[in-house]
Amino acid sequence: MDPYELLGVSRDADDATIKKAYRKLAREYHPDVNPDPAAQERFKEVSHAYEILSDPQKRAAYDRGGDPFGGGFGAGQGFSFTDIMDAFFGGAAQGGTAAGRGPRPRVRRGQDALIRLDIELAEAAFGVTRELKVDTAVTCETCHGEGTAPGSHPITCETCRGAGEVAHVQRSFLGEIRTLRPCAACRGFGTIIADPCRDCGGDGRVRSRRTLTVKIPAGVDTGTRVQLAEQGEVGPGGGPAGDLYVEINVARHETFTRHGNDLHCTVTIPMTAAALGTTITLPTLEADLPDVAPQDATFELEVRPGTQSGTEQTLRGRGVPGLRGGRGDLIVTIAVETPTKLDPAQEELLRQLATLRGEEQPEGQLRAAVRGVFGRFRDAFNGR
Ligand code: ZN
Repeated sequence: MDPYELLGVSRDADDATIKKAYRKLAREYHPDVNPDPAAQERFKEVSHAYEILSDPQKRAAYDRGGDPFGGGFGAGQGFSFTDIMDAFFGGAAQGGTAAGRGPRPRVRRGQDALIRLDIELAEAAFGVTRELKVDTAVTCETCHGEGTAPGSHPITCETCRGAGEVAHVQRSFLGEIRTLRPCAACRGFGTIIADPCRDCGGDGRVRSRRTLTVKIPAGVDTGTRVQLAEQGEVGPGGGPAGDLYVEINVARHETFTRHGNDLHCTVTIPMTAAALGTTITLPTLEADLPDVAPQDATFELEVRPGTQSGTEQTLRGRGVPGLRGGRGDLIVTIAVETPTKLDPAQEELLRQLATLRGEEQPEGQLRAAVRGVFGRFRDAFNGR
């Protein structure tokens, strides 16, 4: 295998170009970053190629057509991706530094938490305040988050002398590689809790159930997440709490359905009312709320004479308030009900009406299969 080809560099490439090319390939194929076995094989090949081309003597030997290796050198194995990057960048890769990153803090921020909350449609639309029971980690009151038994404190780790890490030195084809690894004795903390708090086992936090008052804003919908800052899990060592997210699930309503910020409902009216016209008072979605002003609890639906079944009426601004302002519409579909169970007198009156309208033997009409908005409007005006 041609090492120039493997690294994708020309025969007269300088050291910097070769180094750059190898760095790029190492990032791509190193087993630490690419678990594919084919990548592992590739990594060995490019490391081998780099070994030749980065060494002037081996490179010259290769260029002359000779074997640059007396025996062979298991290149690219036994060094982590970080080791190689450290060798290139003086230890700055992957956030680690040769100077050390110091001990791992015992106090860290906690995780975010998520709970689900079922609410009614009216509550989602107009907002609600709810009490929530939440179960999260809180700071241990016995040790105030320190994790130590009363009267004791964490002691400095003797193995790393408090540094939290220990140096490992390895010889490699890139020279001597010095890496810092977390100290095994103190798990990188630099300190050891010899006498842990009995209530939290040294973690500095315990699980606790508490009640929270949550204000759900108007306009939320299923899937909306309400964020409560710092009400999530307290971190290890009594660190700052993560956030709590309340995910909303809106229950199906008996009569109103929601599409975006619009509300839809269907009102059934008798055939006579549809023919003669009338005004009907109906309950709004707000009527579900405990404290609703009388004028908000109902809406008036005007039924024009000759209203057809399926006619829609839009009441502007009577829908759901938007989370970012504005308010949707209330769209009412009218369903005309044909009377059933006629008594003899009613039947007689209807027969008389049919006679008067010349409808004793109605013709019936096939409607066009596809009707646009204008077709429906025309029908409504013509009273068909
Ligand atoms: Zn404790």
